[in-house]
Amino acid sequence: MEKSEIIAKMQNLIEIIEKHNYNYYVLDNPTISDSEYDKLYYTLVDLENESGIVLPSSPTQRVGDAVLEGFEKRRHAVNLYSLNKVRDYADLSSWVAEMNKLTGGTKFACEYKFDGLSIVIEYNEGVFVSATTRGNGSIGEDVTQQVKTIRSVPLSIPFKKRLIVQGEGMMTNKAFEEYNKTAIEKLKNPRNAVAGAVRNLDPKETAKRKLDYFCYGILLCEGENFDSQKAMHDFIVKQGFKTGGYFKICENDKEIIAEIEKIDKIKANLDVLIDGMVIKINNTSEREKIGWTAKFPRWAMAFKFEAQEVSTLLESVTWQVGRSGRVTPIANLQPVELAGATITRATLNNIDDIKRKGVYENSRVFIRRSNEVIPEIMGLAEKYEDSKEIIVPKLCPSCHQPLTQKGPLLFCTNHQGCKEQIVDRISHFASRDAMNIDGFSEKTAGSMYDNLGVRTLSDVYNLKKEDLLKLDKFKDKKAENIINSIEKSKNVDLPRYIYSLGIGEVGLKTAKEISKVILDKKYSALLENIKKIIDCEDIVAIQKSMQDTFDKLQSAFEEINGIGEVVTKNLKSFIDDIDNVKEIVNLCDVGVNIKVDNFNQHTNINFEGKTFVLTGTLSKSRGEFESLIESLGGKTSSSVSKNTDYVLVGENAGSKLDKAKSLGVTIISEEDFNNLL
Ligand code: AMP
Ligand code: ZN
Repeated sequence: MEKSEIIAKMQNLIEIIEKHNYNYYVLDNPTISDSEYDKLYYTLVDLENESGIVLPSSPTQRVGDAVLEGFEKRRHAVNLYSLNKVRDYADLSSWVAEMNKLTGGTKFACEYKFDGLSIVIEYNEGVFVSATTRGNGSIGEDVTQQVKTIRSVPLSIPFKKRLIVQGEGMMTNKAFEEYNKTAIEKLKNPRNAVAGAVRNLDPKETAKRKLDYFCYGILLCEGENFDSQKAMHDFIVKQGFKTGGYFKICENDKEIIAEIEKIDKIKANLDVLIDGMVIKINNTSEREKIGWTAKFPRWAMAFKFEAQEVSTLLESVTWQVGRSGRVTPIANLQPVELAGATITRATLNNIDDIKRKGVYENSRVFIRRSNEVIPEIMGLAEKYEDSKEIIVPKLCPSCHQPLTQKGPLLFCTNHQGCKEQIVDRISHFASRDAMNIDGFSEKTAGSMYDNLGVRTLSDVYNLKKEDLLKLDKFKDKKAENIINSIEKSKNVDLPRYIYSLGIGEVGLKTAKEISKVILDKKYSALLENIKKIIDCEDIVAIQKSMQDTFDKLQSAFEEINGIGEVVTKNLKSFIDDIDNVKEIVNLCDVGVNIKVDNFNQHTNINFEGKTFVLTGTLSKSRGEFESLIESLGGKTSSSVSKNTDYVLVGENAGSKLDKAKSLGVTIISEEDFNNLL
């Protein structure tokens, strides 16, 4: 055969194969059997092998043969924007009203907001050229080889000039379940699975995940001017892309809201994950007039759906004794996936909360992640014959002393003799935001209680290396590290010190507010008084001096919002307990030294002792973020572990994000990070 003849034959075969591909992967409506398809496919493979010619649009290029060395960066020909977001109908309506005002009345296109990985694909002369991740909007990563393996991405299209489209790489629930049936390492959820698959240097791995691509936008189309979103949508469909099968034009906010409600109800039955709806002004010349902000188009709005809710079995309730003696009911749940994390426990807050929610041990309950971190029990889903009333304990589950009830709250008042309280107090004292003693987990604190007789905060400072070596799994190095860390912790600033005492409702932020009052110049004489008297032997006199000081500060506390009535009361009863005063004196005696002077120099100590892990593409270089975090007292690390405080995720984050989710580490976006600052 002549070369031109071979090529013509190949082209013909490719066309037929791609047609069947389209029927199968885009329309979900195959018209030939798998074996017939295979026959066509292998005829092409044979031709390619014999001739050594492979056409760029050949489906054999979908298998992803070569492993890449790294991701190349690519500048987008057209910058990508984010979307402005609303979560309630009132905000949506006012946006619609504003758009109507600006245009004198307009129509809106409603689309799914796909929750996958944004990918831009370029075609030229009707052939797939490249694929790029969103990245920071102007520069993304080249994922051409990976995206080629996605069967619903056409390798050739009827349009013959330059075309750049935007869409979302997705894993359908069906593909997800299929994959997990045989996978050794199971995927957590379809959303993470996409990012991990596309940002994989081995395109064969991408191919295995059987991804999909849903196209929703045209960024550039040479020689064509679309007058509306509808026209673009129709064009996209004609070129053979999958679109998710939903597109709706609405005339006003009522219609839009009706659409949102409709989709919200059916979204759980869809085969793809959507996290909202995108509403765009349909007419493109109107869009031009309305324009863009630096971050998003003003003419589009995303409506985000409520956090997801699932139901699971409430297996039992554990009553947990906290450091201030409060006894809280914790629900043990049958593990369940919710918004990317495995949930096993949730708090039931207090006795009234249990009544209000009407839940039982061994009943099915609804849970929801109200914000990214804390799962909440919403209420009863189903009661069974053997569901059991949740019994409020009369005795402390830790020390077996009678409990006291104050309103809906339960307390164990045996502060000095209740193991769970003491252990929680000590591990809180040592925790990172407090005295920051390394390697001091709750388990370690427990074993120090059991084996070394550690009962008070100051006991920690009397520990010797020989003592620690008696503990299980403590070797030379580990013992030495803890001893060094204990020694280092003796120099502490006032807010951390106050926080470390574990006074009820006094978090680090409140401790900072309290410190500000105490360190206020106006009150310096009071502070001096305490310092002087603390050296004296008479503990009652010390307490008296503290109480007097507190009374004088009280009005200043009351003026500050962060220090409410409850905190003030807790502070007072803390000082009124002579054991606490003794403990403060003991801490001074063992050498804890509060750095008073330099506190006011810190404008922000939020990051002190916090470990960050960065992943994905951020708006600035990693180095810039790292030095910013470090300048505020934080640390950065390259891998995610239980000790990570925050994972800062940019675009296209990969396995670190998966890991953070599986460990339940707090995940923040760049926007959240800026808020923290
Ligand atoms: P966000 O990342 O939350 O700012 O939302 C913006 C992103 O939503 C875009 O970058 C797209 O990746 C994605 N998206 C999903 N569906 C659509 C859609 N129908 N139209 C526009 N963007 C969409
Ligand atoms: Zn107790």
